[in-house]
Amino acid sequence: MSAILPGATIGILGGGQLGRMTAMAARSLGYRIQVMDPDPSCPARFVVDACFEGSWDDARAAADLARGCDVITLEIEQIALSSLSAAEKYAPVRPGVAMMRIIQDRILQKNWLVEHGLPVGEFRAIHSEADLQAAVPALGGRCFVKSARGGYDGRSQVKVGFDGTTGFSDAWHLLGQNPAVAEKALDLEKEISVMVARSPNGELKSYPSAANHHEHQILAWSVIPSSVPSALEEKAQEIARHIAEQMNLEGVLAVEMFLTKDGLLLVNELAPRPHNSYHASERACVTSQFEQIVRAVCDLPLGDVSIVKPAAIANLLGDLWLEHEPRFDQALSVPGVRLHLYEKHQPRAGRKMGHLSAIGETPDEAVEHVLHAKSLL
Ligand code: ADP
Ligand code: MG
Repeated sequence: MSAILPGATIGILGGGQLGRMTAMAARSLGYRIQVMDPDPSCPARFVVDACFEGSWDDARAAADLARGCDVITLEIEQIALSSLSAAEKYAPVRPGVAMMRIIQDRILQKNWLVEHGLPVGEFRAIHSEADLQAAVPALGGRCFVKSARGGYDGRSQVKVGFDGTTGFSDAWHLLGQNPAVAEKALDLEKEISVMVARSPNGELKSYPSAANHHEHQILAWSVIPSSVPSALEEKAQEIARHIAEQMNLEGVLAVEMFLTKDGLLLVNELAPRPHNSYHASERACVTSQFEQIVRAVCDLPLGDVSIVKPAAIANLLGDLWLEHEPRFDQALSVPGVRLHLYEKHQPRAGRKMGHLSAIGETPDEAVEHVLHAKSLL
């Protein structure tokens, strides 16, 4: 297999913030970039050579994108298989269609994890209201019910069995009467993730784990490294590497994991693309996740993943803008803090508009700095 060298063109399906930051890293390496996105003024738009307008299931637009590219990758897992297949006629698609088919359906993904001996929390596949009614008591009475397809940042998810939450019928209808998984609600000690990169030639590298703090099912802040005990870190690394090998990953994959109060390490979900919890890799690691995906899909040697300095990020959601214009000047007065905005024009509640990053002598200090900077906004 031969590397795709700088000067070549990379196509990205999806032009959100992940595509944008990947494009910026690719540009630094001397590549040209094209993206496809339903929104002609998507965040990547301003940093790429060309932007093709097309929805995720627009196979023709995907083919148009791929025709001018040497390799295709993606920044969102919900790209239709028909679009991936259409693109594949013109350029290698990394990660490939077989892996994407499994990952983009939560039921297939969970079953795959179980079949491959990976630890997951208790769950049931749901195909009807009656399934849901039977599953919830069987899973202990409190569940997260998640659409099999299409959710992110806690969207397409309903909590059932908690005080004041939705009943079975409402939950089933809220999820559009679509296939779903019901997961037992777990008592979480901590959430971590491991980013792993694998190239077509089989080279594999996994980053030290990140610790992730969610609020209302959306990532609020994240720090690298996670500071979990070394035995647990080893286990998390082993899980992530095993999945990447078994899936024949070409590209990057974030493995989100739960550490439960009773000491279990479970796989939550897989994200076959750059991940919010590794935005801090731009500050913490020798090689950022964005450079790493470029290296991986171009079959270049993978970059060093070791830590230079602990770093943390805090997400900036649209809610902030709805209160008042954020005081970026104040936040940037905190030493070591950087601002990363995605050029989204419409702030909306829960919409990720950007993030702050900070470094520290320790992971705790990095978190402290970034949250302090955020409090000044
Ligand atoms: P998304 O695709 O929106 O990231 P996730 O399945 O990762 O969906 O859920 C988002 C967050 O909701 C998780 O990171 C976690 O904080 C919480 N969550 C999800 N499922 C469970 C569960 N079974 N038990 C406890 N918390 C959960
Ligand atoms: Mg998640």
